[in-house]
Order: sequence, then structure tokens, then C-alpha cells
Amino acid sequence: MLEVLKNLLFPPKCVWCGEIIDDGDECRRCRAELTFNTAKIATKEFYSAVAAPFRYEGRVRESILRMKFRRKQTYAAVYARYLSDTIKEELAGRYELISFVPVSEKRARERGFDQSELIAGETAKALNMPFDRTLRKVRDNPKQSTLRDESARRANVSNCYKCVRDVRGAKILLIDDIITTGATMSECARELLMAGAEDVVAASVAIAKKH
Ligand SMILES: [Zn+2]
Repeated sequence: MLEVLKNLLFPPKCVWCGEIIDDGDECRRCRAELTFNTAKIATKEFYSAVAAPFRYEGRVRESILRMKFRRKQTYAAVYARYLSDTIKEELAGRYELISFVPVSEKRARERGFDQSELIAGETAKALNMPFDRTLRKVRDNPKQSTLRDESARRANVSNCYKCVRDVRGAKILLIDDIITTGATMSECARELLMAGAEDVVAASVAIAKKH
């Protein structure tokens, strides 16, 4: 009875297109039409491999924006299903600890959560791997999306992240919601390597075409 009432008041909606569905968390059409990433992705200098289930476009992009700006925390578990499958296929054996690219504490407070922390946590659960924070964002820089060229993005993220955990000798999988040029991910990987990590591999829900 409660479940029926809950469905009437808050009908389940597709995570990707936002349409009302009978049950579950995604509609049949989206499942068939999602923009999977099939291209081999180039790595950046400080992380040694990268994997992402989706391209950052269309419904996937809109869905990730809804998670962040309309506070759809429950999307994290759905993303994690796809992400964990991709990680199993492409990064198995490459890491022993899962961590994430954090937003600043100020932004996490405003939003009420850190989207990458939620996604990485759910992914670690799905993969049954240890999960911990390794980085803190210590400087609230302008958003990377406001900067066009690669060198400006690189300068913008420089020294924004500090390692806050003992990572000596660790092989780390760093998860972010999206990877655009890879400048942020590379800076985070650099910080972890400087702190003594043995290797850093990367994964995101979606990856931009220009990566
Ligand atoms: Zn849909």
C-alpha cells in the first residue's frame, strides 16, 4: 500500500530522459539508444589508463547535469552499474583502492553532496573493492567548462588538490563524473604520484569527444 502511494506521488522516472516509467530506473528506449563510448581513449601523462562507459552527449549529458544541479543523488547507483562493468572489462587488476576527484567543501555544502564521491562509492560497492578519500580540493577555481584551451585548463587546476591520505605504494582508481580534456584528472593523478602512489588509473561515467 505504501509502495503504491509512493509510486503515485513520486512516479519512477528514467534516469536518462526523465520520463515517467512503470518501474525500475531507466526506460527501454534509453537502454537501446544510450551513447556508449566505444573508442579507445588516450591517457594523459599522469594516469596510465582510462575507461568510461558513455560519451558525454545527449541524454547522458542531461542526466549528469540533473544529478548535479537538480540533486538527483539516486542516479549514482545507476551510473555505477555501467561504470563497474566497464572497469571490470578494462581496468581489472590495475588498482586496489577506489577514490574520487572531489569538489571543494564549499561546493559540496551548497549542493548537499559530492557527486563523484557518491558515484565512486557506489562503484566500489558494486566491485566489492576498498573505497576512501585520497584528495581534498583546497582551492575553489573557476569551472573548467568556462575555459576553452588546454593550457588555460591546466593552469586553472594546478595545485588545487592536496593528498590527504597515506597512498604510498598504492594503486589507485580515481573516479570522476565526467572527463573533458583530462586536465583535472591528470592534476589529481600527479598529486597522488607525488605523495607516493605507485600508479593511478582513471574512470568516469562519461567522457567528452575531444578527450
Ligand atoms: Zn529514458
